Amino acid sequence: MTTAVAAPFRFFSLQVVRTRRLGPSLVRVTFGGPDLHAFHSDGRDQSLSLFLPHPGQPEPVVPLELGDGWWQGWRELPDDVRAVMRSYTLRALRRGPDEIDIDFALHGIEPGASVQAGPASRWAARAAVGDRVLLLGPAVADNRAIRFRPPEDTDLVVVWGDETAVPAASAIVESLPAGTRARVWLEVPHAGDIQDLATEADAEITWLVREEKGAQGSAMVLDTLREARLPPAQRPYVWIAGESGCVKQLRRHFVRERGIDRRRVTFVGYWRRGVSEEQLRAEE
Ligand SMILES: Cc1cc2nc3c(=O)[nH]c(=O)nc-3n(C[C@H](O)[C@H](O)[C@H](O)COP(=O)(O)OP(=O)(O)OC[C@H]3O[C@@H](n4cnc5c(N)ncnc54)[C@H](O)[C@@H]3O)c2cc1C
Repeated sequence: MTTAVAAPFRFFSLQVVRTRRLGPSLVRVTFGGPDLHAFHSDGRDQSLSLFLPHPGQPEPVVPLELGDGWWQGWRELPDDVRAVMRSYTLRALRRGPDEIDIDFALHGIEPGASVQAGPASRWAARAAVGDRVLLLGPAVADNRAIRFRPPEDTDLVVVWGDETAVPAASAIVESLPAGTRARVWLEVPHAGDIQDLATEADAEITWLVREEKGAQGSAMVLDTLREARLPPAQRPYVWIAGESGCVKQLRRHFVRERGIDRRRVTFVGYWRRGVSEEQLRAEE
């Protein structure tokens, strides 16, 4: 007898069904399509790989042949043709009709911006109903692209995320069961980016707004967290994600300054200042 094992990840061909501006720096893009019946995820910080078209292309260009040679085939396509691949987080999954939301942080799109927008930020700023994308995502609900995994004995959940990790952190906070104690810091560029989060957990959520403090994100965050009093806990679990430099400093703070066991700290660099995702991947 053979046992069929479902592949944990597969491609989903999706279309934009609507967009909604959540604030000056965040846009929610809702995708639909018949493929989504096979999309399964336990949520939290479920990460996804999104393949986007270049301006002027009707759909992302990827090799037609699926299989072992797919990645190589994708990489060998000319730079200005090959679909742009970027990492994002599942913000929500709904059934009837099948839909998923992805929240995009918009950077570099305002006139006179000091940093140039990347292709994903530009795509999201202009996304319109019917736009086509390809998603590499989970077909199995519990999969290794979910990193938020507090040990069972956790008595305090601590979360920090910048605007790129607000979608993941929000989904995490919403998923926490009643009775969980959580201390959450979310950093956004503008006061208008603050959102209401619903949770059954006993969560204290603080929004850190860069425009109000007139500060560089990492300095503001480090100062705030150094001064913060965490509720007493024997077995805390920490999840941090956002700009890599800031994530590194915060991890050091939690492990070295607060003495939290490094195995109980999940940290993920979501982007690095001055470096595109291709350049990051090339470094790896
Ligand atoms: C696991 C994972 C999950 C993620 N989930 C999300 C998500 O749900 N929502 C989301 O918005 N992002 C998310 N990100 C971050 C996102 O992938 C990066 O911000 C990505 O660089 C955006 O691609 P781009 O084409 O806009 O810019 P790129 O072409 O990659 O970069 C161009 C330039 O923009 C800079 N840059 C990139 N992001 C920002 C930013 N936010 N602010 C200022 N400058 C920036 C880069 O440093 C570079 O100089 C996630 C990343 C990872 C690894």
